[in-house]
Amino acid sequence: MRTYNTLIVLLLLSVTIACTPEPEERKGIFQFDDLNRNIPAFNGDSSYANVLKQLEFGPRVPGTPAHAATRDFFLNTLRARAGQRSVFTQDFTKIIYGDTLQMSNIIAAFNLEASDRIFLCAHWDTRPRADRDPDITRRNDPIPGADDGASGVAVLLEMARILAENPPPIGVDLVLFDGEDYGREGDLQYYFLGAREWAENPPVPGYRPRFGILLDMVGARDAIFPKEQYSLSYARALVDGVWEVASDIGYGNRFPDIRGAAISDDHVVVNEKLGIPTINIIHHNQGSGNSVFPEYWHTHADNADIISEETLGMIGHILTEIIYNRIR
Ligand SMILES: [Zn+2]
Repeated sequence: MRTYNTLIVLLLLSVTIACTPEPEERKGIFQFDDLNRNIPAFNGDSSYANVLKQLEFGPRVPGTPAHAATRDFFLNTLRARAGQRSVFTQDFTKIIYGDTLQMSNIIAAFNLEASDRIFLCAHWDTRPRADRDPDITRRNDPIPGADDGASGVAVLLEMARILAENPPPIGVDLVLFDGEDYGREGDLQYYFLGAREWAENPPVPGYRPRFGILLDMVGARDAIFPKEQYSLSYARALVDGVWEVASDIGYGNRFPDIRGAAISDDHVVVNEKLGIPTINIIHHNQGSGNSVFPEYWHTHADNADIISEETLGMIGHILTEIIYNRIR
């Protein structure tokens, strides 16, 4: 509890000191010019190991022992990297489909003293049912969630190592959301449970980072990342800025300048409820409906076989480039 209070006091102080930029200034903060600074190397192999480690626990479905064990693993890992005082959980309970679920958002803050902050997020829970699996007898079993869940977290855990070893020029908060993927298809109110909790009961009242970046399904081999439509409508300048950085450092073919699909995800909740410009980096194709997602999506094929060190490394490279070389 004490760590939690310390964090709140420090961050509240930051909120009081910082002033909210005017819209014109806000536009400027999404221009990520090359500042010719050295950036620390993001390790795709370590990130891949972070995927495997999560899969070893089994599906991280809220309410299961695997979920509880994974929560402990994240807390221990992040505390070792960010320090005891800078990591805390936001625990909450929801009753969904008659099940009482204990869930936790997990937050790690780096460069705690900085008033100027950004946040990076991913969901850590696993979908409880493989409702898209070709084998209809296995559709009620939970998916492994290697890409859908574990990949984004795997990037953030490796990022935590980098942030610990290389103090960033801006405050960086990592947020692992729980309960993103619990709802049955069509039950949108039972998705994004952790993001909703975080937005409706902010652990740090008045929290105003410059922006947020959500990572979801960022680990598949040859994954392509079109510009997701909700991200464009809430924060076009940020999307364009991030995609330009990706192209500058050689990933233009993987981050094409094309308008993708509109995908409901945790970032929509953050934009709607908190007004923090937050975008989604998510592997999908152009199109509409569920056909935009890759074939393994919400099936048992979402396992380690489809994950690539290279893709994880690319995502981490783009983020380290932004944090260490593009932010004034
Ligand atoms: Zn999903």
